[in-house]
Amino acid sequence: MTLTLQSYAAGKWIPAGSDAQSLAHAATGEVVAKAGGAALDTGAMLTEARGKAGPALREMTFHARARILKALGAYLMERKDQLYTLSYFTGATKGDSWIDIDGGIGTLMLYASKGRRELPDSCVYLDGDVELLSRNGTFLGQHISTPMQGAAVQINAFNFPVWGMLEKFAPAFLAGMPSIVKPATQTSYVTEACVRMMVESGLLPEGSIQLIIGGVGDLLGQLGYQDTLAFTGSAATGLRLRSHPNLLANAVRFTAEQDSLNASILGPDACPDTPEFEIFVKEAAKEITTKAGQKCTATRRIIAPEAMVGDLIDTLSARLAKTTIGDPTDEATRMGPVVSLAQRADVLDSAARIAEGAQLVYGDSPINGDAEKGAFVAPRLYHCDDPDAHAAVHETEAFGPVSTIMGYRDMAHAADLANRGGGSLVASLFTHDPKVAQDVIMSSAAHHGRIYINNRDSAKEATGHGSPLPHMVHGGPGRAGGSEELGGVRAVMHYMQRTAVQGSPEMLTAIGGTWVKGAKEVTGPAHPFTRTFDEVQIGETIWTEPRTVTLKDIETFAHFTGDLFYGHMDEEAAKANPFFPGRVAHGYLILSFAAGLFVEPNPGPVLANTGLGDLAFQKPLSPGDSIKVRLTVRKKTRRTDTYGEVRWAVMVVNQDEEQVAEYELLTMNAYEYPL
Ligand code: NAP
Repeated sequence: MTLTLQSYAAGKWIPAGSDAQSLAHAATGEVVAKAGGAALDTGAMLTEARGKAGPALREMTFHARARILKALGAYLMERKDQLYTLSYFTGATKGDSWIDIDGGIGTLMLYASKGRRELPDSCVYLDGDVELLSRNGTFLGQHISTPMQGAAVQINAFNFPVWGMLEKFAPAFLAGMPSIVKPATQTSYVTEACVRMMVESGLLPEGSIQLIIGGVGDLLGQLGYQDTLAFTGSAATGLRLRSHPNLLANAVRFTAEQDSLNASILGPDACPDTPEFEIFVKEAAKEITTKAGQKCTATRRIIAPEAMVGDLIDTLSARLAKTTIGDPTDEATRMGPVVSLAQRADVLDSAARIAEGAQLVYGDSPINGDAEKGAFVAPRLYHCDDPDAHAAVHETEAFGPVSTIMGYRDMAHAADLANRGGGSLVASLFTHDPKVAQDVIMSSAAHHGRIYINNRDSAKEATGHGSPLPHMVHGGPGRAGGSEELGGVRAVMHYMQRTAVQGSPEMLTAIGGTWVKGAKEVTGPAHPFTRTFDEVQIGETIWTEPRTVTLKDIETFAHFTGDLFYGHMDEEAAKANPFFPGRVAHGYLILSFAAGLFVEPNPGPVLANTGLGDLAFQKPLSPGDSIKVRLTVRKKTRRTDTYGEVRWAVMVVNQDEEQVAEYELLTMNAYEYPL
């Protein structure tokens, strides 16, 4: 059966046109889908995103959007088998598809969870601390981020039709921006099936995701400064897109993840009899064969001490010889074909360029499949004996199961070779020597988006050289595109505008939904600990009665806790210390007395104290001094169905109103009481 793919534009599915392209099964050559040529009104798509979906998304808080992502992840997880079936057509084995499909859904879930844990339950993200801009604190500054008000256009490469789409969609959605997704045509049938599920789930506000199968028409010419363009693909296409006159004229935010000559370095300590050597060989073989080498992060250059190159070629070749190549649906197959015959031609062409400066040392694996109609390529390992002289081995990305081994003289040479990729997504280092790791980081980190270090201590749990993780930055300088994707909340910020807001504490409190020191202190009708999560208001404040701290208090606390530090117990020694006028109260005693002053002891909606933050002891407290406490509701965040977190600003002052201590108190407060 041949699928006829449809685009999804402004709420409608639009079929492929009469000039649609035929897409072939990677292993059999049979036509599996027709794609492209749809009559798309890209202007209407932008209007749908900018005018309908964007405003709906921006009305939600980060947490509301995160909850949708979580539900969407669960929805896709239940239906993922359909995606696996289609994924085989691309040449992917089950293991390869797991990276794409489960990896993509996992990325969505990770953003759902980060959204709830690391972003506020509000529409504005506060970036950094309040900046004091005036002597008396009546004029302050705060950086905030709010969602951009356009469409997030996302153009993806063929190799990860699900992950590539979801890893861009998730942070954009969490930020509050709708996406227009354009997968690479060759594997767009998998993306189409996934987007169809997302639309059918009914979970997403209409227009939050739209899909273009085939060319983008004049879409890029219509983008404005509130739109964004995120691209993954080859350096050549990246260059064409980044130099689009309209994108330049309107300073459209553009991020690119391009090809990359990733390097993997075997440390000088990782001799053939060490665990590191074995781990290195295992990972190098995996990088060459997983997805038939069609991973932007795959190891293209293997950099080893000159004396170990011979052993490495032998061991790695023996391992590659064990890789079964053939029909991706066969459970015994470890490596399927590349995506298409055109891609195979491209890989062989690039390999020929590498061969101008390197010798083929392995490349004769048997293939269990139709080598004419299927796009099979055996793994190829090259050895370059003069990597300083041959630029092609550092510049040619053969986007298939191809890698080149090269020897290095010393660590400086190893780092220099790794850096000759001209900017990469990832470099890895296999060593058990921290000094080697320090050297490589200092000489190489600036050239790579990620550095993966593995050895006997981490091997069991290490996630792999070639695995971008949603928590960590994915992207790289120079040839890799000069941008970042993923990296936890950092990726969400690519879809938001940072604005420096300046004004009074009252204004900043209203804008950020977080009480700022100097803003109005609100008096509630009762002690705030007797009021539920919803009843207490931002800025609600109590001042306690004063309490005098005596020498007896200090001694009792010292003996009770065992904290007999001289600053509290020995007048002469304390005086000799530049911080103390003589014996002083313990900081922890001050905190304990503060709690004793502000708590309401009876059972109530405050369920637990879950922590303290940003604690500073600002002035020593001598015996006979007194303290009083100001307790203010700073911020509230709903957490579960029954309780939410309240952050309280706590300030302790002495009898002269000088600040003694300041901190943030965290409590969990019930929505209803009695429970
Ligand atoms: P590609 O040929 O550059 O295509 C990438 C995407 O750009 C496809 O969706 C393609 O659509 C689209 N495109 C091409 N010309 C365009 C134009 N003029 N206007 C708008 N869109 C255009 O790359 P590919 O062959 O799919 O992918 C392989 C490359 O991607 C490799 O070099 C690999 O290293 C890189 N890659 C990088 C990453 C990363 O994260 N850094 C990840 C995966 C792959 P059509 O398919 O319709 O032409």
